[in-house]
Amino acid sequence: MKSSNKQGQLILGVDLGGSKISAIAADAKANIKARDDRDTCAEQGPEEVIARVIQSIKQVMASPRVTSPADIAGIGIGAAGVCEAASGVITAAPNLPGWVNVPLRDIIQREFGFPIYLDNDTNVAALGEHCFGAGVGIDNLIYVGLGTGIGGGIIVNGQLYHGISGAAGEIGHMIIDVQGPRCKCGNIGCWEAFASGTALTAAAVRQIEAGAQTTILSFADGDLNKVSAETVFLAAEQGDRLASDLIRLTGYYLGVGLVNLVNIFNPELILIGGGVSQMGQLLLAPAAEVVKERAFELPARAVRIELARLGTDAGVLGAVALVLEKMSRPSS
Ligand SMILES: [Zn+2]
Repeated sequence: MKSSNKQGQLILGVDLGGSKISAIAADAKANIKARDDRDTCAEQGPEEVIARVIQSIKQVMASPRVTSPADIAGIGIGAAGVCEAASGVITAAPNLPGWVNVPLRDIIQREFGFPIYLDNDTNVAALGEHCFGAGVGIDNLIYVGLGTGIGGGIIVNGQLYHGISGAAGEIGHMIIDVQGPRCKCGNIGCWEAFASGTALTAAAVRQIEAGAQTTILSFADGDLNKVSAETVFLAAEQGDRLASDLIRLTGYYLGVGLVNLVNIFNPELILIGGGVSQMGQLLLAPAAEVVKERAFELPARAVRIELARLGTDAGVLGAVALVLEKMSRPSS
């Protein structure tokens, strides 16, 4: 165990989420040597959140397993917002109140002096899966982060696809029904308004309010406000018919978006990650069926749809992968 990092440099990976900040020090093989987790306290605004990110990094660096700052090759940050990767600016972040055009990379760089790389959290998770998880060796893959919303990271020919402004990958906001419900983004009929955890929760609440026969409420302390994707899943696991039907319907809508991705990108692999992906085959099986039925035959035959592997560490390990990728391709 001791002096396990003497061979190589360590990389710091930071996951800045709407509710939690996590930071790790890891080697290039994703062995985690130190970590710190704390609340984001997003409601306190950017200055306080940035201070907490800095504290978290300092806490990791203070670990006895990080022997000296000279061990550290760089810091990667995956942030829950729209990131202009080239400039290191977070332009907007719905889950981080007050974050408009925050030059996070430069602020962290001034504090620590290491090379700092910043990207959107779902892009970073895609890289993490590509480097260390279920997508190792797969150069054309799409990561779908399924949680309260739907995020995406698109890897084309081994590299993250950013688009001209760094804004690519917002797959959750592809419109799948022009007359559908309103999405959080303001648009109508986005994929995430149908297939996210939030959409599933809303559908369950509607059914319960309409008097449907279901045990879902008993998994939510009898409180309609506590109904969540997770409580629907728990009820389904215990044999609740409505809960299973609702998850199957969410899986169907998941599949509709995947059909579009399969037809457009012809990926080898689609990885489903994020909190809602814990529903596993209950969700994936109906999605895969829609892809088989409705995508073009050639790309539908080529694609595998699987669960992501890194779980809640996708963000921090992806941030480590971001640094590794930048160091190996300085110009990208
Ligand atoms: Zn939207």
